[in-house]
Amino acid sequence: MSKSEAHSIDEIKAKYQAEREKRLRADGLAQYRDFPDVFKDGDRDPYRDIVQRDPVIEETDVAIIGAGLGGIMSAVELVKQGLSNFRVLDMAGDFGGTWYWNRYPGLACDIESYIYMPYLEETGYIPTERYAKGSEIYEHCQRIANKFDLYPKALFHTSVTSVRWLDDCNRWEISSDRGDKLRARFMTIAGGILNKPKLPGIKGMDTFKGTSFHTSRWNYDYTGGSQTEALVNLADKRVAVIGTGATAVQVVPKLAEAAQQLYVLQRTPSGVGPRLNRPTDPEWASSLKPGWQKERIENFTRMVSGQAVEQDLVKDGWTEIFSRNPNAFGVTGEEEQAVDIQAMEDVRARIDEIVEDPKTAEALKPWYHQMCKRPCFHDYYLPAFNRPNVKLIDTDGKGVEGITENAVVVDGVEYPVDCIVYASGFHSGATHTTRLGFEIYGRDGISLTDAWANGPSTLHGMLARGFPNYFSLYMLQGGIAVNFAHLLSELTIHSAWLISETLKRGVEVIEPSVAAQEAWFNTLLANLGAQALFFSECTPGYNNGEGATPTEESALRGIPYFGPTLDYIQILRDWREEGSLAGLETD
Ligand code: NDP
Repeated sequence: MSKSEAHSIDEIKAKYQAEREKRLRADGLAQYRDFPDVFKDGDRDPYRDIVQRDPVIEETDVAIIGAGLGGIMSAVELVKQGLSNFRVLDMAGDFGGTWYWNRYPGLACDIESYIYMPYLEETGYIPTERYAKGSEIYEHCQRIANKFDLYPKALFHTSVTSVRWLDDCNRWEISSDRGDKLRARFMTIAGGILNKPKLPGIKGMDTFKGTSFHTSRWNYDYTGGSQTEALVNLADKRVAVIGTGATAVQVVPKLAEAAQQLYVLQRTPSGVGPRLNRPTDPEWASSLKPGWQKERIENFTRMVSGQAVEQDLVKDGWTEIFSRNPNAFGVTGEEEQAVDIQAMEDVRARIDEIVEDPKTAEALKPWYHQMCKRPCFHDYYLPAFNRPNVKLIDTDGKGVEGITENAVVVDGVEYPVDCIVYASGFHSGATHTTRLGFEIYGRDGISLTDAWANGPSTLHGMLARGFPNYFSLYMLQGGIAVNFAHLLSELTIHSAWLISETLKRGVEVIEPSVAAQEAWFNTLLANLGAQALFFSECTPGYNNGEGATPTEESALRGIPYFGPTLDYIQILRDWREEGSLAGLETD
C-alpha cells in the first residue's frame, strides 16, 4: 500500500493478517541461538576484569540472585525492614543488571527517568534529562548501592551453578562457579527478563571473518568512542546491524553518524513516535513535594493500564497511546480497532513525512496493532535513513538469508561488511532455566521444571508450593507493567515484608497451600479479558512466543494477571494488611 492510497479498515486488517502470516515460522523460539554457541569467547565481560577471590562459604538469611534493579530493590527493601544478613550474587561485575551489560551508543531509558529510576527521593537525585542515558541509570544503580551500603553484600562475577533446598535443615544451598557455597533461609530470584541475549540462527553466521558482537556486549575496542563519544574507528568500516527493535532504534543513529556504510537489516519494522527529550527543568525539580515520585509512578501506571486519571502527569508518547485508546493492549470492538488503526496510520504518516526515499519509507512502515510490539520513540532514527551512507535492507518478514565470510546475504544479494552488530534482543520469552542458566531443586529434590511440567502454580506469581521460602520476581502468574521498575518496587516491598514477618513470627518455613495456588489461578482466569487473545493474534515476537498460539494447559497456566497493574499491587497490599499470611502453610 502506498502513501497515496486511502486505506479502509478492512484492507488494513487484511494487511495485518498477511504480514503476520508471512512471519510465522515452524521453529518459533527455537530459531534463536545462544552466545557461547556463536562467539568463541562466550559470555565474557568486556567491561571489567575478573578479580580473583576466595570462595565464600557461609550461612545467610537471604540470598538474592541478580543485582539488577530487582536485586537492588530486593536488598534495599530488606535494609528498610532492618535486615542486614543477606547476599547478592550476579555474573556481572557491579550492580546494574541490564544497565551493566547494555552500554551501546545511544542507550537511553524509553520510560521517563523520573518514574523509572528508583529511590529518587531517598537518594536526593534528580535525573539530568527526561529520558536519561544508560550511563546515568547505571551510575544511579551504584548510587543506590552506596547509599544503602550494599557493596559488602555483593558477590560479583559470580554465576550461580545450582540451587537446592535442603530438606534436613530447611535451607537453600546455592553454589557458584567461584566455589561459593551459601546456605540461605530465603532465596529471591531476581534474574530479570533481559538477562540472556539471543542471536538469530542465520545460516553461515559462524563463518564470518570480520568482527561481530551483540549490542549488550558492545566492542568499543573495535568501534572506538564510548557511550557519549563518536565511534571514530568506524569511519572506514562497512557495518551491518541486524534487528530493528527498541535497541536498534537507539543504536542506528549513532552507527549512521560514524560508519562509512551502514546496512540496517530489517525483518519487522518498529513503530517509532517522537521522543522530545529535554533537560530537567531545575525550577520544576525544586518545586517537587515529598511523595512526588510515587504519585507520578502510579499516575503513569494507571494511565497505561487504561484507567482514568484526573491529570496525566507524565504526558508523553506512552500516555498519549492510552489516552487515545485505553484498551490498546486488548483492541476488540470496531470502535477500538478504528482508533488503533488510526494511531498506526499516524505512525506510518510520520515515516512519509521524514523519510525522503518513498521505497525506504514504505518498507519502514509497521503493519500490526500498536501494542503488538514495544512502541519506540526516537527523533533521529527515521532521519538516519536520509543519509547517503545508510541503506535499509528489508527482508520482507523473512529475516537475513545468510552470512558468508565477509558479507550478509538477503534475497541472493551479498552486502560485503567488516562488522556485524546483532541487535537481536533477549530470551525474554524462554523458560526460567534457559534464562537463568540453572535449575531450581525444591523439596525432595524435585526440579521447578518437573514440578511445573503441567504449567506453573504459584501464589501471586511469587511463591511456589514445593519451593519453600522462595521468591520469584518474574511475571509468570504475576503482574505485568509497562514501567517494569514500578512492578519490581512493589514485588520487592512484598517479599521483604514477608521475609521480615516470617523471621519476626519465628516461623521456619513458608509455602503456599494447593488451595491458595488454585484460588490464585482462578483470580487470573477471572481477569483474562481481551489482552489474553490480543497477543496471540499479533505479529510474531517475544510477546507471544514468536506467534505460537498456546492451547495446551501448561502454557495457559503461565498467564499473568491481566487486570490493571495497580489492582494487582492492591491485592498484594491488602494481603499484607490482612496480616494472617493467608494461604501459606507455615512450619
Ligand atoms: P527485540 O527482540 O525487540 O528486537 C530484536 C530484533 O531482531 C527484531 O527487530 C527482530 O525482528 C530482529 N531479528 C531477529 N531475528 C532476525 C533475523 N533472523 N533476521 C533479521 N532480524 C532479526 O530486542 P531489543 O533488544 O531491540 O529490545 C528488547 C527489549 O529491551 C525491548 O522490548 C525493551 O523492553 C527493552 N529495551 C528497553 C529500552 C529502554 O529504554 N528501557 C531500550 C532498548 C531495549 P522481528 O521483530 O521480526 O522478530
